[in-house]
Amino acid sequence: MQTDNIRHHLPITVWKNPHLWYITAIMMACAIFYYLDTIIELMGWSRLQWWVLYTVHDLHRLLFFIPVVYAAYIFRVKGAIITALISMLIFLPRAILISPYPEPILRPIAFVIILGGVGILVSKLLDSITEHKRAEQALWESEEKYRQLIESIHEGIWVIDKDACTTFVNPRMAEMLGYTVEEMLGRHLFSFMDERGVQIATHLLERRKHGIKEQHEFEFLRKDGTRLYAILETSALTDDDGSYAGAIAGVQDITERKKLDQLKDDFISLVSHELRSPLTVITGAVNTALTEGARLSPEETRQLLKDAALEAEALSNLLGNLLELSRVQANRLVLYAEAISVKKVIQDTVEELRRQSPAHQFIVDMPRKLPPVYADSLRLERILYNLIQNAVKYSPQGGKIRVFAKPEKQHLVIGVSDQGIGISLADQAKLFAPFQRLEESRLDGVRGLGLGLLVCRRLVEAHGGQIWVESEPGCGSTFFFTLPIVSP
Ligand code: ADP
Repeated sequence: MQTDNIRHHLPITVWKNPHLWYITAIMMACAIFYYLDTIIELMGWSRLQWWVLYTVHDLHRLLFFIPVVYAAYIFRVKGAIITALISMLIFLPRAILISPYPEPILRPIAFVIILGGVGILVSKLLDSITEHKRAEQALWESEEKYRQLIESIHEGIWVIDKDACTTFVNPRMAEMLGYTVEEMLGRHLFSFMDERGVQIATHLLERRKHGIKEQHEFEFLRKDGTRLYAILETSALTDDDGSYAGAIAGVQDITERKKLDQLKDDFISLVSHELRSPLTVITGAVNTALTEGARLSPEETRQLLKDAALEAEALSNLLGNLLELSRVQANRLVLYAEAISVKKVIQDTVEELRRQSPAHQFIVDMPRKLPPVYADSLRLERILYNLIQNAVKYSPQGGKIRVFAKPEKQHLVIGVSDQGIGISLADQAKLFAPFQRLEESRLDGVRGLGLGLLVCRRLVEAHGGQIWVESEPGCGSTFFFTLPIVSP
């Protein structure tokens, strides 16, 4: 099938090639010119008997270089040989029948050999030019592929010469350091690090000069002065004679990972501290009640146990929040949602916090009838607990804390407002992110992990609702969240 195709295809394309017809036309024109004197004689066109037509026919034969070179250009060696042979056929009649010179065939044969030789030479020359161009194109394509690869990889690539000056960086490397590629080229490696970095890099360069290839962490200075933490995979470059010519490094940005590690360390120390404080109170209170029991009044013993119970509750809430977050993190948060009335959940949670903080005034503000919502009641309790506990923590004793609920279109809006320290507009934007504790809270010595609002946000969003805050510094804050109303 395939060979059939080729067999039929080839001749058709050759015949369709217009160059074949141009070459034939030129050939015919050359032949007519070659025999024009004979034709004029035969026809008796005495007025056309110009001198030029009667000069040496060797010169006329020169015209045949045109079709031969043309054919060599288009059809290469084959074209040159065929046109040269056809020229021979054209020369033969004159040589045999007309030429008055001795050895008439020898000269055309010699001429045709030269014709064919020149044609073959031209076609070989053209072949080698084409081959050269093709090789150049292949080289360009492979260089282009290599360039695209270097430019698109996520890793930075940095090459320095033997004096540690930058000779190459890919765009990713420049981007990591906040420079443009042009800005980095030619600059000394040491200009991208602080003094300590220079000391370490000097030592590392020495190792590179001894041909040691290694992976290590390094701290660079970005253009804006911030730090880039990176893992480098470096190896030495050598000259043809094997002497040290510089180094090449694959650079991976691990700044985010470093930040996370730092965050993890901070988190562990914060959690340990947050766990230890209530435990100290609990053990202290229980031990005092046990050892000093006989000397204490029933009222004092009750107060000690109440303190212990409150701290235990705070501890349990903290652990509950951590558990919820770890479930969200592992995509294992399962809601047990059903149609429930929020009234009871709100009242129970408010009662619990009223018990814990009797100094605050709690107001519950709800219409008599509220549509049921689709929610997980334990999770709803946690959201409310976190918000009301914050209202208690961040507002003065005696302050009013209002918990309200009202239907709005397809949602029930539930809110907790206080008369506390309030939150600036800039701080409001970062509240619901992990470990956000505002400066004021830390200065006031209020305990917390900065995770309560994040847990609220994750739980509200898992219910298909939204959470936001409206606040004015010094005047108090109101946290709102929505839950979907069960359609009747
Ligand atoms: P925590 O209270 O454990 O620090 P949260 O995630 O619950 O963590 O709150 C994050 C931060 O938001 C708090 O540290 C506090 O600075 C601020 N905040 C939360 N609720 C209020 C509020 N009602 N009034 C003022 N600031 C608040």
